[in-house]
Amino acid sequence: MDKIKMTNPIVEMDGDEMTRVLWQWIKDELLLPFVDLKTEYYDLGLPNRDATNDQVTVDAANAIRRHHVGVKCATITPNAKRMEEYNLHQMWKSPNGTIRAILDGTVFRAPILTPSIQPFVRTWKKPITIARHAFGDLYKATEFQVPGKGKAELCFTDDNGTELFRNPVYEFGGPGVLQGMFNTDTSITSFARACFQYALDMKQDLWFAAKDTISKQYDGRFRDIFQQVYETEYKSRFEALGLQYLYTLIDDAVARVIRSEGGFVWACKNYDGDVMSDMVSTAFGSLAMMTSVLVSPDGNYEYEAAHGTITRHYYRYQQGEEVSSNPIATIYAWTGALCKRGELDENAALVSFAGALEAACLDTIESGTMTGDLAAVCGTDIPAAYSRSFLRAIRTRLETILA
Ligand code: NAP
Ligand code: MG
Repeated sequence: MDKIKMTNPIVEMDGDEMTRVLWQWIKDELLLPFVDLKTEYYDLGLPNRDATNDQVTVDAANAIRRHHVGVKCATITPNAKRMEEYNLHQMWKSPNGTIRAILDGTVFRAPILTPSIQPFVRTWKKPITIARHAFGDLYKATEFQVPGKGKAELCFTDDNGTELFRNPVYEFGGPGVLQGMFNTDTSITSFARACFQYALDMKQDLWFAAKDTISKQYDGRFRDIFQQVYETEYKSRFEALGLQYLYTLIDDAVARVIRSEGGFVWACKNYDGDVMSDMVSTAFGSLAMMTSVLVSPDGNYEYEAAHGTITRHYYRYQQGEEVSSNPIATIYAWTGALCKRGELDENAALVSFAGALEAACLDTIESGTMTGDLAAVCGTDIPAAYSRSFLRAIRTRLETILA
């Protein structure tokens, strides 16, 4: 069989620990035998980030801006323990944070559904994609522990040095806490655009929720910007496809999400997205079945699995144990990237290969071959397959589908 040709490369970012091992196995079993894989390779494994003073992460992000499509393996975000374990020069920042800052994107997370893994919420039939606004609010807030009696004020001085307002926040009668946070029209607008565009691409409704009844200025601004972007840029295209944009209060949204059958994109403010994405992924069955894509406003796409480097499995693997880590979300990161590359390059063969590989993954699970995490949520006496034999089973299916 002839291998599928590629015109333009995908930016390939290797990573750490168990996912780094899976990465190579996935390429060997499921990609290289079928595709004349063209990638621009960046080693984002922690040793190489340390050796390059993290320049490799910046280079990889810039490469995505050049080639528009990237695929990333999970990577370690170092903490004090990792500093020691890897003998690091510095506590390097999260690569995802660095890449997101350079691409200025929005992260969309969606679960992979299979019939045998039933969501905990009975009504859910289709995936719910969460878009998290990953800028500002609580995550860039300034905060204090107030020592005792005194007054707190909120003030703003413009660039000319004119104080435009100074408002009382609270008269403290004793110790307490205080916090100031912000967001910008630019960031909210680009988040809104990313969400409308992604929903349009996916042909799904878009929901957005905030608490504008209480936070009339702050959350009200979010609501107004979304509404304005919708009306001026997306309304006609949404209506032409029969899609809906729904704005509601965050508590109402939570209730509606649980009653819904899924199949929409849920745009969340930063904190809501942090919390809700963990709830939604767990309720859909397994973190190992969650995909993630960073979409930038100027049309760059970076695909990855939502889970981490599966450290606990890696330590066992290093001891010579066979492990049952689930490679599905990492495979879907590759299929997402291959499919997008195919779409951008009008390479139908590549798009259809990506579809065939996803079908092979789902068929394998449906036929009862699955990793331990999936066997556990299926709730029957299915034996857990080791990662390597699971990948081999997927390859057998894939060969049948492609033949
Ligand atoms: P994790 O790697 O997602 O793993 C947490 C646990 O979830 C695992 O021990 C395992 O549970 C289960 N799990 C996750 N993915 C699985 C898979 N594919 N197959 C089977 N089970 C899976 O999270 P973590 O242990 O908190 O973080 C480990 C490292 O990953 C950290 O250094 C962190 O910085 C990094 N991280 C990176 C990213 C990223 O690059 N996007 C995201 C998150 C975390 P059992 O052990 O019970 O089987
Ligand atoms: Mg979270």
